[in-house]
Amino acid sequence: MTFSALGLSEEIVRAVTERGYTEPTPIQAQAIPVVLAGGDLMAGAQTGTGKTAGFTLPILQRLAASAKSLSGKAPIRALVLIPTRELAAQVEESVREYGKYLKLNSMTMIGGVNINPQIQRLKTRVDILVATPGRLLDHVQQRTVDLSHVEILVLDEADRMLDMGFIRDIKKILALLPKQRQNLLFSATFSDEIKALADGLLNKPAMIEVARRNATAELIEQRIYPVDRQRKRELLTHLIKEHNWHQVLVFTRTKHGANKLAEQLDKDGVPALAIHGNKSQAARTRALAEFKSGKLQVLCATDIAARGIDISELPHVVNFELPNVPEDYVHRIGRTGRAGSEGEASSLVCIDEKKLLHDIERLIKRDIPVVQVPGFEPDPSIKAEPILNGQNRGGGQNRGQGGGRGQGQGRGQPAPRAGAGRAPSAPRAGGSKPASGHGAGRGAAPVLHRSGGRGR
Ligand code: AMP
Repeated sequence: MTFSALGLSEEIVRAVTERGYTEPTPIQAQAIPVVLAGGDLMAGAQTGTGKTAGFTLPILQRLAASAKSLSGKAPIRALVLIPTRELAAQVEESVREYGKYLKLNSMTMIGGVNINPQIQRLKTRVDILVATPGRLLDHVQQRTVDLSHVEILVLDEADRMLDMGFIRDIKKILALLPKQRQNLLFSATFSDEIKALADGLLNKPAMIEVARRNATAELIEQRIYPVDRQRKRELLTHLIKEHNWHQVLVFTRTKHGANKLAEQLDKDGVPALAIHGNKSQAARTRALAEFKSGKLQVLCATDIAARGIDISELPHVVNFELPNVPEDYVHRIGRTGRAGSEGEASSLVCIDEKKLLHDIERLIKRDIPVVQVPGFEPDPSIKAEPILNGQNRGGGQNRGQGGGRGQGQGRGQPAPRAGAGRAPSAPRAGGSKPASGHGAGRGAAPVLHRSGGRGR
């Protein structure tokens, strides 16, 4: 299958070929013809599948086919709504790159930066607007944006949009759009809430779903490192130094946790910065740029801040703490092993996280290999404690944080069933494996230490 065979124009094919894409990904192969034909779409696809080009390329083609002259002001014809600022900036960058041989203009509209340059930019021609909902509504309020000519709407990462509490903002925005338009909805998960949103939004949509990362995780080598909660930072420093990991994206559960960890790692001699919603947009952009360029060894992030960060060939993702929602584990480890490259996803797991690990393994339908680093065996006398900040997902860099739904609702989180499946596979002390063995051979199976069904 080629991009030309999907019906894309020579200008677009040239741009993607220059970008290094030789053939469409499955989501692109399915979505592009639907969008080119003008139909609505509901797509189950998460970041890493190539979904951005899946909607961007056909939108560019449709708009280019009926483009007005470049001179003068023209209305916004495509609106792409994105939950996070980083992802919005990345998507708009892709729009520009894929559309570089077309006479179309795009703009990023995100919060956290001065609104005035955006107001000035809106006075010039913008065909495709890539926006986060909060800032878009700020412009609506100030009457600096006109959405009355939008022909195509994209809701990207719709599930995350709802998680972040954007539903009311989205509804307000929808009310400002012309009734007659093409709608494309992308979501990694399909909760009842997403289905309800889709029902109200989409008109006889084509439904497509591509394999989730957890179904194609063979490129991601996953490991569990059992450790006591207060020794996690020490173990992380040890792993990073021992294996000379570079470009490590570390997930913490809270913003405070991300800050504290980055500071401590820095003190340990591992260059680290935190990225989360309480940081200024400039600080976030700087941290991300340094991390991407390889200058910064570790980036500590909360789930929402890291969502959509696209770093090609990111080699290491570390779960410093397991996420409260099992699906977030899949999102997190999906940051590595992307677009055909291999990656390692390591989770530092303490006794408190036994149930979270169990839920994750049930979701991904596999046991994650356990590697016990000698010298870091959990102390058997330490008892599990409830996880603090259990409701704190630690993200929310856009407006709407706090207005979101409760933790885990509607995200298909499997309810724990007593006795279902195999025994919980919490890590335990007592195993040993030479530290040098880990990472020496990527194919080598780590030593597993699993409970054989002791009632833990
Ligand atoms: P996305 O899911 O849109 O965030 O894309 C994930 C990554 O895949 C990005 O780094 C894209 O540049 C890359 N990508 C998208 N389409 C293709 C393709 N057809 N071939 C190779 N890489 C691609």
